[in-house]
Amino acid sequence: MENGGKANGGEEKEKVVEKLCRRCKETFNPSSNNTSSCRFHPSFFVSRRHDDQKRYYELGPDDPPYAAKFYDCCGAEDPNALGCRTDLHVTYDE
Ligand SMILES: [Zn+2]
Ligand SMILES: [Zn+2]
Repeated sequence: MENGGKANGGEEKEKVVEKLCRRCKETFNPSSNNTSSCRFHPSFFVSRRHDDQKRYYELGPDDPPYAAKFYDCCGAEDPNALGCRTDLHVTYDE
């Protein structure tokens, strides 16, 4: 099929379409998505004692005793703690 020749090499620079990551909810550039782009916790933020029964969430003076919350994967007690794993961002298209 003849196609009149492409505009020599200099393609208009592609518009970067940022995607939203389904896991970390950040926008990212798919062409620079790599296995260390996305930081996340592979497990959930739970509300119970740490498995080893030794580490307890440090309750604040006003926290009820059931306020023990942490990530099941790494034990981080801050819901905003940086992810303990990295991987590719996950798009909504996949
Ligand atoms: Zn974690
Ligand atoms: Zn992500």
